[in-house]
Amino acid sequence: MTEIKFGVLGQYFHCPVKGDFEYASNALVLVDDKGVIASVLTEKDADFQTQLSQLSANKQLIELSSSQYLMPGMVDLHVHAPQFPQAGKGLDLPLYDWLQDYTFPLEAKFEDLNFAKKIYPELVQSLLANGTTSAVYFATIHKHTSVELARECLKQGQRGFIGKVNMDEASQCPPFYIEPSTRDALIDTEDFIQQVLQLEGNEHQLVSPVVTPRFVPSCTSEMLQGLGELVQKYHCHVQTHCSESDWARDYSQEKYGKTDVEIYSDFGLMTSKTILAHSIFLTPNDHAVIKATGASIAHCPLSNMYFANAAMQTREILDNELKCGLGSDLAGAPIPSIFHTCLDAVNHSRVREDGTSTYLPADSRGESGSRISFLESYWMATVGGGQAIDARVGLFQPGFEFDALIVDTAVADSNIFILDEMDSAKDKLEKIITLNSRQNIRKVWVKGQLVIEK
Ligand SMILES: [Zn+2]
Repeated sequence: MTEIKFGVLGQYFHCPVKGDFEYASNALVLVDDKGVIASVLTEKDADFQTQLSQLSANKQLIELSSSQYLMPGMVDLHVHAPQFPQAGKGLDLPLYDWLQDYTFPLEAKFEDLNFAKKIYPELVQSLLANGTTSAVYFATIHKHTSVELARECLKQGQRGFIGKVNMDEASQCPPFYIEPSTRDALIDTEDFIQQVLQLEGNEHQLVSPVVTPRFVPSCTSEMLQGLGELVQKYHCHVQTHCSESDWARDYSQEKYGKTDVEIYSDFGLMTSKTILAHSIFLTPNDHAVIKATGASIAHCPLSNMYFANAAMQTREILDNELKCGLGSDLAGAPIPSIFHTCLDAVNHSRVREDGTSTYLPADSRGESGSRISFLESYWMATVGGGQAIDARVGLFQPGFEFDALIVDTAVADSNIFILDEMDSAKDKLEKIITLNSRQNIRKVWVKGQLVIEK
């Protein structure tokens, strides 16, 4: 038997239907002692007043002001935790050179537990403060510091999906950042999975291990095979990069004569808990395989503008009902906010739609009809992300976990300016998505636990 732990009274936004939204002006969201939404009441419900009085008498009521909005927690499907120190610099190189010159030397430093302990707490805190209640992380090849990242998520109360990265292909990995051997890496990965599952305080699986081949170029086929076997054994999540750039796509074609999706599928890495970052150069067959397996795509629009060499098929992916959420791709992009990623996703699609070359006539410049809307991007950031991590988050409905934010549009230094007589509910939501920043987020809950309070 569960008991009501607290209730939140006020207005909320969420998106039960892709491309649409719901606004409740005065709702009472009741959260039970397991962090799950027990019920959502409005003034029309018979027990609204009774519940309200009871919660108020027991000091269990959180009442929002007229400038405060309850919103679902944001889901970031693609974060490179060790690259946090690199966020905001070094985006001048194409993918291969960027990895070799900047990224691998930085990731190699995470062999040092003290270094990891300096970086990871700051990252998790920064994401939570920006409203990211669930994050899917690539750590590094080092087992002990990857476990440390999981421990840090638990400590700060973030829903974390953490992968010890695997890379053993000597021709693609520098000598200072490569697994000692394929066999050792697979043993480490299995041990990592078990350690994360058994972490003290993880009885409710707030943090989960993720099988993480970095991408096709960094892994031998023996590694992909071994990781596929671990996935079948533990039924855990999988994350990897998929057809991210011309170089990555061409590498797979040259080595296997196949697309990334086909290769991952051959090795048993495509499941309903697989998250494919980027997925730029998808073929019709890739669409079919992703749909049939129930795998998800992490759309990382800002990073795509630096590294993808082409625009994302976001419109087609949404229309084809593939599972798709958003990723910040820290630090292949610099901004630790999924609100910002929503704006980037819209911008990305608009540039694709119109095209770019002034030397071409308007009707052949872009890809007509390929834009996505703010509501679609916000749906991806909440409901779509929740589907990808296989968690009941993203909606204010009974049975969903209470991962939520209070956004206040009237705080000092806010960029959001709401004019009640001019702004409809939809206008307000669009302004919040577009202009929200860290100072607007006043409270953050994960699984009913208050993890940020300002
Ligand atoms: Zn990435």
